[in-house]
Amino acid sequence: MRDRFHCTYCGGRVVPRCILVALSDLFPDELAYHPNYARGQIHPVYWALAPEADHDLAHSRGGTNDIGNLATLHTACNARKSDSLTALMPAVTPPAARAEWDGLLSFYPGIVASGPGTREMYHARWIRHFSRP
Ligand SMILES: [Zn+2]
Repeated sequence: MRDRFHCTYCGGRVVPRCILVALSDLFPDELAYHPNYARGQIHPVYWALAPEADHDLAHSRGGTNDIGNLATLHTACNARKSDSLTALMPAVTPPAARAEWDGLLSFYPGIVASGPGTREMYHARWIRHFSRP
């Protein structure tokens, strides 16, 4: 939420994983999901859009979990970064204007309500989390 649902490396939009999971619940064949990201069993959109909280200074280099050391990165961007510093990664030109983007949060409760009712506790926890001021 702090990074306004944008990857801090490439500037692209992100969609929280829980919302992608809610879409997978609706369209399990078209948007396959696997909790361990098993290759061939999960739709590539998870790599392209799901965010991860990246440690700018990696744990392996003494980085902490302090919010100032965390940044939003796409799963794919984070995999590319590995344990290097973001500043040492190849430069990417981010989109010029960061349009207002809520990561599909405004649609999340409706997506869950339209789904099959599986993972109710999982989605309820995330909807509560995102409702906090
Ligand atoms: Zn990215």
